[in-house]
Amino acid sequence: MTLNRTEVEIRNYFHGTRASARPDARNQSHLWLSGRQVKRIRRELCGMADCCCGGLIGERAGNNNEPAIVTHDGQVLSATPEGARLQGWGSGRVALEYTGDEARQ
Ligand SMILES: [Zn+2]
Repeated sequence: MTLNRTEVEIRNYFHGTRASARPDARNQSHLWLSGRQVKRIRRELCGMADCCCGGLIGERAGNNNEPAIVTHDGQVLSATPEGARLQGWGSGRVALEYTGDEARQ
């Protein structure tokens, strides 16, 4: 998968699936996904209602610490609901927070 400059890739190493999305807002510490994007990503990564494989947006890191969420240039992100609430945005939005780690390519 080749990511465009504004995209992030979300991976689920349990199912071996990947999804990409273009965050609809960003600042220096966070990127934000809409509730609609989050629903699509969860469906693409797993899609099973009774499966507990993934995290907040269906992400799941690899067994050798391969990161679950990365930017086009290899920055590692983690999903957090708090960042969206801080902005006063409604339910379903998820913030992706920069962890400061670089993904091994
Ligand atoms: Zn699953």
